[in-house]
Amino acid sequence: MRFATLLPVVASCAILVLSCGEGSAPAAADRETQPDGVWLLSGGTVVTMDGQGSVIEAGAVAIRGSRIEAVGTAADLGERFPGAEVRSADGRIVLPGLINTHTHVPMALFRGLADDLPLKEWLEDVIFPAEAEYVDEEFVRWGTRLGCLEMLRGGTTTFVDMYYFEDVIAEEAERCGARAVVGESLIDFPAPDNKSWEDAIAYTERFLVRWKGHDRITPAVAPHAPYTVSAEHLQAAHELAVRHDVPLILHLAEDMSEVDEILERTGMRPVEYVDHLGILDDRMIANHVVWPSPSEIELLAERGVGVAHCPQSNMKVAAGVAPVPEMLAAGIAVGLGTDGPASNNDLDLWEEIDTAAKLHKVIKSDPTVVSAEEALTMATIGGARALGMEADIGSLEVGKRADLIVVDPRGLHQQPIYDPYSTLVYSTKSADVETVIVDGRVLVEGGELLSEDLEGVRVAVERYRERLAGLRTRP
Ligand SMILES: [Zn+2]
Repeated sequence: MRFATLLPVVASCAILVLSCGEGSAPAAADRETQPDGVWLLSGGTVVTMDGQGSVIEAGAVAIRGSRIEAVGTAADLGERFPGAEVRSADGRIVLPGLINTHTHVPMALFRGLADDLPLKEWLEDVIFPAEAEYVDEEFVRWGTRLGCLEMLRGGTTTFVDMYYFEDVIAEEAERCGARAVVGESLIDFPAPDNKSWEDAIAYTERFLVRWKGHDRITPAVAPHAPYTVSAEHLQAAHELAVRHDVPLILHLAEDMSEVDEILERTGMRPVEYVDHLGILDDRMIANHVVWPSPSEIELLAERGVGVAHCPQSNMKVAAGVAPVPEMLAAGIAVGLGTDGPASNNDLDLWEEIDTAAKLHKVIKSDPTVVSAEEALTMATIGGARALGMEADIGSLEVGKRADLIVVDPRGLHQQPIYDPYSTLVYSTKSADVETVIVDGRVLVEGGELLSEDLEGVRVAVERYRERLAGLRTRP
């Protein structure tokens, strides 16, 4: 949502401890006791998402610590790692963890507060007042905790966030075990966490210093959008990102009103404008990019910008349909995002994959565009490329982080299986995710979150629901 992040939040805390199930191989605390520290996920169909599109029947993945040690057939890896503990993936599909390239996780607490309204009304009558009154550090903490658990349960192992009190979001992402790129939002008006630009920049710099070098948390700078941040401030945000060598996250060309406004103000379209400012480069993750012109698509490709495509959010607020087939053809790294859960209304990447594969077909009147494999690519290695993290995540390859999921494809809605891409993209639901592993650590097992604080989250969310329910608006 282009405006949904305008008013923010802060942090406090709680205890979300993740532990591993009894008796299975991958418990973090047990790993050191495994032979060579290696354990095997063995026996399923391994959809690697590597450059060759390798799919290994009766495959296996060997995991050592937080990394993938080997990928191959179950027979070969069984021979290579005799005595390694084995977790069976028989009859299942093993694939890389999904990557949600754009969201505002704490807005999970606004889920369903108002729907089906014109954008302006939704924002000005509901979201902004709700944020002004309720969003603080505590809100951000509980909203993030809820959202992180939802994402992990559904097989999302990496997410990219931008909101306020991002330090708290980083803490929650660290606590729940997910991988995250977290961008502190910068905007040209007083925000809940920082009342002036100077304060926001100082906060962001402290935040970058605190989290840089963390194994799973990548801090980022997130100026909100070209229409809410001045040219001078966009350049200052970029300079900060360059100085600390971190990503820059920006909403860009989300809807036509933005294009019209920037054109009128600068004589340039949004992508041209930010390029003119010197900030369009390969550290940028551009959200939405619904309305780039053909020449702007070339510019995005030339500059190596990563794009977060958010089909369901774009549909829900009637922003338009991003020219994804054209962007892919131009060689742009395109990932999938849910956007904030108030404008979606969930953090379910499986729905985005399914929608991305179908939406462009109907708009182009061409059922051959955005194939199942291309859609799954965007949710995995494509997303990793958009984040500049393809050396570490996005596919099952030796040396990469052990971020992987196991899908149970035996549901009635998935049978029979002729092609794993088809099954994953058009038939699989988030509830079919059976196991989720991040950095070699099992976070979901048997379809259950291994979090000890689920009940605490439910209680806190209900407390917010009671406080916010009076704001619920019907069209
Ligand atoms: Zn957004």
